[in-house]
Amino acid sequence: MYIMDGKETSRELKEALKMQVKELPSKPKLFVILVGDDPASKIYVASKEKACKACGIEALTLCLPADVSQKEVIDEIEKANKDKSINAILVQLPLPDHINEKDVIAAIDPMKDVDGLTSANQGKLFMGQNGLVPCTPKGVMHLFEKYNVDLTGKNALVIGRSLLVGKPLAILMLNKNATVTIAHSKTKNLKELCLGMDVIVSAVGKPKTITADMVKEGTIIVDVGINRIHGTIVGDVDYLNVSPKCARITPVPGGVGPMTIACLLENVVECYKMQKEIE
Ligand code: NAP
Repeated sequence: MYIMDGKETSRELKEALKMQVKELPSKPKLFVILVGDDPASKIYVASKEKACKACGIEALTLCLPADVSQKEVIDEIEKANKDKSINAILVQLPLPDHINEKDVIAAIDPMKDVDGLTSANQGKLFMGQNGLVPCTPKGVMHLFEKYNVDLTGKNALVIGRSLLVGKPLAILMLNKNATVTIAHSKTKNLKELCLGMDVIVSAVGKPKTITADMVKEGTIIVDVGINRIHGTIVGDVDYLNVSPKCARITPVPGGVGPMTIACLLENVVECYKMQKEIE
């Protein structure tokens, strides 16, 4: 069993980005909108800010109260769209229930859509055109590349179909010639499906979604899930019992999480370059 080390891979990626940023005529700038007091969201935003700064990227966070109106959030996005000093806009999800996430995302200028969530960028991904790709799926593809996982002809299962992770990842893997199946909460035969797979990516958010009896010897597993149990973080995979059967596996923590942050930085630089028309 070989670990696909997201900590080390993200460190290399961030080092390379830092060098690139140094060569740019000015500092790229990320604008983050954080609504409400969700503790997990606050931690995520703080770690994104810290990673930006370490890489020479400016990060500015606007904290809005939980009862802010949808119009006020969209007004802030529209201001940031027009502000030439801002290269990338990130709205930290989830938003409070009274705000429609789709409407908020739709307000982001696709050229500044650092999470790749607008229909323009998701459409480009679907069409195989260059655009901004969501950070987590991009991070998973970096790990496949770093660890020489050739997806050509492999039977691959993506569990989860969110716009943030599952769907875009399935398309990226398809573009690398995997034979891709997508599973979700209504899928009936998950165990049988898993047993026929060469590659499994779990992006569900439930511990022990994948147990040892569901996996054949030599499977490659990517665990995207983040679950908090009594103060510790675990993935979707029963790592202790599943990992001995795997050819490769990502740990949680230290797998996909750090890659997501590194790819966010990569996307900020990509936004900057697109706007400045730098190759
Ligand atoms: P999400 O929007 O809640 O999507 C979860 C998906 O899992 C849905 O498509 C759902 O199916 C499916 N699902 C739920 N129960 C299932 C079951 N028993 N069997 C099969 N599929 C099932 O979540 P997300 O934003 O994609 O995130 C997924 C997980 O990844 C979460 O734990 C999240 O914290 C984590 N995450 C990690 C990173 C990172 O950097 N490591 C980044 C983003 C997200 P339906 O569509 O039918 O409801």
